Amino acid sequence: MLSTSMALFYHKVKRFMVVHFRVKYVREGINAREGSCDQCGQCCKIIVRCPFLLEKDGHTSCRVYKFRPLQCRAFPLHDDDLKDIDYKCTFRFKNPDDV
Ligand code: SF4
Repeated sequence: MLSTSMALFYHKVKRFMVVHFRVKYVREGINAREGSCDQCGQCCKIIVRCPFLLEKDGHTSCRVYKFRPLQCRAFPLHDDDLKDIDYKCTFRFKNPDDV
């Protein structure tokens, strides 16, 4: 059993690999979710805070939004991604057990 931080690290690496090498998985994950991003920035703070994350007056934004990495664009792709941030995300999966 992995410790929580090891599991978060493993999931982070997995997300990076998936978005670059598993196009079908990414497409299915995107199609399986509902909702939209409210730019809360929770996914930008998994394990370490992204240096491009800006937080000011209760608002968050990304310094490199137009050029942000694929794993940022595609988050979340699986219910496990939401678990990594304690479901503090406005996306949900239609059938979490199926993805
Ligand atoms: S956690 Fe979800 S709602 Fe918040 S910035 Fe990431 S994708 Fe958007």
